[in-house]
Amino acid sequence: MNTLDRTTKDWQAADAAHFLHPFTDHQALSAKGSRIITRGEGVWLWDSEGQKIFDAMSGLWCVNVGYGRQELIDAATQQLQTLPFYNAFFQTATTPSIALAEKLAQLSPPQFQHVFFSGSGSEGNDTIVRLVRRYWDLQGHPGRHTIISRINAYHGSTMAGASLGGMVDMHAQGGLPIPGIVHIEQPYFAQHAQPGESHDEFGRRAASWLEYKILEVGPDKVAAFIGEPVQGAGGVIIPPDTYWPEIQRICDQYGILLVSDEVICGFGRTGHMFGCERFGVRPDLITFAKGVSSGYIPLGGVLVGDRVARVLIEQGGEFNHGYTYSGHPVACAVALANLGVIEREGLVQRVHDDTGPYLAQQFAALQGHPLVGEAETCGLMGAIRLVRRQATADAPAEPFASSLSVGMVCRGHCFNNGLIMRAVGDRMIIAPPLILTRELIDEMMARIRRCLELTWVDVQQRGWV
Ligand code: PMP
Repeated sequence: MNTLDRTTKDWQAADAAHFLHPFTDHQALSAKGSRIITRGEGVWLWDSEGQKIFDAMSGLWCVNVGYGRQELIDAATQQLQTLPFYNAFFQTATTPSIALAEKLAQLSPPQFQHVFFSGSGSEGNDTIVRLVRRYWDLQGHPGRHTIISRINAYHGSTMAGASLGGMVDMHAQGGLPIPGIVHIEQPYFAQHAQPGESHDEFGRRAASWLEYKILEVGPDKVAAFIGEPVQGAGGVIIPPDTYWPEIQRICDQYGILLVSDEVICGFGRTGHMFGCERFGVRPDLITFAKGVSSGYIPLGGVLVGDRVARVLIEQGGEFNHGYTYSGHPVACAVALANLGVIEREGLVQRVHDDTGPYLAQQFAALQGHPLVGEAETCGLMGAIRLVRRQATADAPAEPFASSLSVGMVCRGHCFNNGLIMRAVGDRMIIAPPLILTRELIDEMMARIRRCLELTWVDVQQRGWV
């Protein structure tokens, strides 16, 4: 059938018949029917029914320069015409992959002069596991293979990525985590702070869990600690400012490698080029993906700091690891064009100086709403925790029972009212494109307020409050 002749129902039927979606209950979705997204421009999407939707999630935390950017399209077209593919395995390279590696070295903190490319964030984190273990083998410490991560972290969906991640539901399927990966609790104030504890005190205490774990595993067995500067898929968990410097101190004290997974935080999301710069840490390795190409084409990789690169290059011989698409020329050409847009339009600075603080103000103003426990932001990412009852002077906010899935109720109202927000448990999260202006933030906030209102009416009618 000609694709133009198909109705939404036709697409939904074909989707249900053939397409197994990621992280989806296929049977439930087939019964309901997917929403078919057909077009994008700027921060806007359109579905097959012609509905216009504000995309406050940048696709999946990735379309940082917005939809429909001609520079990126031209870069892909030109590279496809010139050389659609060549590999980097056989002592060969392509010009876009070299130029992008050089550009990333220039944009990243000074310790990063080398890049290993992958096709996605998950693959990037597989590379991390191979790299840190290889590093310690070459250093003469083959027993140092354990990597410490955090509960509720998301590091991808491959065997290594899902193991590094701390998602209980993922570990429950397929015998994960793989050996040599252990987890500590996340620095989530609403979940773990003690009565009367300040954010700063909590940040230091949450970081101390790393030290306990190192001592439990044995300092001579620990290879690395990995964390997202702000946990994204876990619900935009923003750590107190005291957390990361203390994590750095502990990693330094025990000589373990520090890995910053910047698949979400990289390329301006926090108002800094990399999230580690926002929180004042010096990682040895950075995983990146998503924003490097604004999701126009799959690309990921690892920035390799001098400490690891020197050993790998000077002592390592052949590193038996790589992907067909490591340094894919079309992906690299698109990424170069994307980084060009980010630089030329000063998007990182804009988030830092203007739109980030403006969004923070708007979120702070949500605080009085009866459903809002906390509304927090970091750069252009934010989270609203929906609560059953507000905190009082003597009692913390009362959460909704998780079985009620209040986030999904709110998400339903967003979807029906032209707004894409994501629900993670009781946290409603956003990560809008970095091209947002104050006017677009106003537009987004008006939609968010309307959806909160509809959710408030809904939960009252359901008798949940
Ligand atoms: N790390 C983080 C922090 C992520 O948010 C993601 C994806 N959401 C990944 C890794 C995995 O990336 P991908 O889906 O491209 O494999």
